[in-house]
Amino acid sequence: MEMNGNLLRIENLKIEVEGKEILKGINLSINKGEIHALMGPNGTGKSTLAFTLMGHPRYEIKEGSIFYLNEDLTKLNTSQRAKKGIFMAFQYPEEIPGVSLESFLRNTYNSKNGKEISFLEFRKILKEKMKFLEMDDVFLKRYVNEGFSGGEKKRNEILQMAVFEPTLAILDETDSGLDIDSLKIVSMGINKLMNPELGILIITHYQRILNFIKPDFVHILMDGKIVKSGREELSKMLEEKGYDWVRKELNSQRL
Ligand code: ADP
Ligand code: MG
Repeated sequence: MEMNGNLLRIENLKIEVEGKEILKGINLSINKGEIHALMGPNGTGKSTLAFTLMGHPRYEIKEGSIFYLNEDLTKLNTSQRAKKGIFMAFQYPEEIPGVSLESFLRNTYNSKNGKEISFLEFRKILKEKMKFLEMDDVFLKRYVNEGFSGGEKKRNEILQMAVFEPTLAILDETDSGLDIDSLKIVSMGINKLMNPELGILIITHYQRILNFIKPDFVHILMDGKIVKSGREELSKMLEEKGYDWVRKELNSQRL
């Protein structure tokens, strides 16, 4: 069972969005304590995979299976998945007017843990998490993502991840729109939160964030398929040669 440390196992997954096949047979396995990077050009289905893992109803499973902690994940709805420790930081954090960051995070905590804790109790937890992440607590009173800069929004996502204490974290384009200082802070936060019980799937178009977060495995997604998997060097190759190099290699293999 869980003895082997397997967190997520995706087998021959085919996904349709509004009648169009986007994912065309994905195989991916993530164990506890591993960081996997999923890279690929825009529009190849990276976010589709992330939303599918969260159980978004728009993404229709046509074939294949997803196991999470050896349980059929597709049988669970989004909130059940969250309760079981799957966390997703979204590419475009939504603005929720009138909800302060603190009460938003408390909600996250309560729904994950299935209990209601008081503001006072939660504040203690939050203070610890913020200290751990070396975050300033001045912006706690601010409203969720309203008036936050791009970098601050991303930092909030990491704080949300810290409060959530995930078993599997899916970070979709966490690096997009970050200046180098914010990128370093966000990466440091993710590295601090990494632990032997956690698996992380970092989805990114660019290699940049992988200078700060060392992936154990790198996968390249193209046209709905993982066309290449490797170690960290693979992302360095992409930085040097771009995705065209992978395309050329694939084409020459087809000849
Ligand atoms: P990536 O994250 O790699 O940029 P996406 O998973 O967002 O790629 O999108 C893959 C393809 O799926 C897109 O080219 C688009 O055609 C289609 N797609 C994704 N989301 C939707 C949607 N909500 N409605 C219609 N088509 C979509
Ligand atoms: Mg995307």
